[in-house]
Amino acid sequence: MSDTVFAKIIRGEIPCHKVYEDDKVFAFLDINPLAKGHTLVIPKEAAPSLDKLSDDSAAAVGRVLPRIARAVLAATGTREFNILQNNGPGAHQAVFHVHFHIIPKTVDGAGLGVGWKPQRFEHSEAATLAADIQKRLT
Ligand code: AMP
Repeated sequence: MSDTVFAKIIRGEIPCHKVYEDDKVFAFLDINPLAKGHTLVIPKEAAPSLDKLSDDSAAAVGRVLPRIARAVLAATGTREFNILQNNGPGAHQAVFHVHFHIIPKTVDGAGLGVGWKPQRFEHSEAATLAADIQKRLT
């Protein structure tokens, strides 16, 4: 597994502005913020993408994500935010260590811009697709 910039941040080899740490999770300010307070929450486990992450680390991140989000909102005086989690270069992932962006949406419009283009829902395929996904949940 490649050694990413985030692994180096966890080990203290690269400086960061840390906001949280426990035995399984680390959080720090994003160096290219979309808005003031843009924070990255990462598992210490070096999984490259969310689908490779262990249940233990996923649970540890999920347990603290709302608490860190509340602190970011309080510290930045914002009330709205997005959680962004990219997986794969085609999905805008640049650092191949799982991370959750907490991005405040400020009244001046700073924050995440979303291009949301829904496709037609195919009812004829939906039952088969849902069953296939269920079957693969191991
Ligand atoms: P993603 O496109 O989801 O992989 O996002 C990676 C994020 O990591 C980007 O928003 C970068 O600004 C951020 N980033 C990269 N290097 C650092 C660093 N040394 N300290 C803080 N954030 C970083």
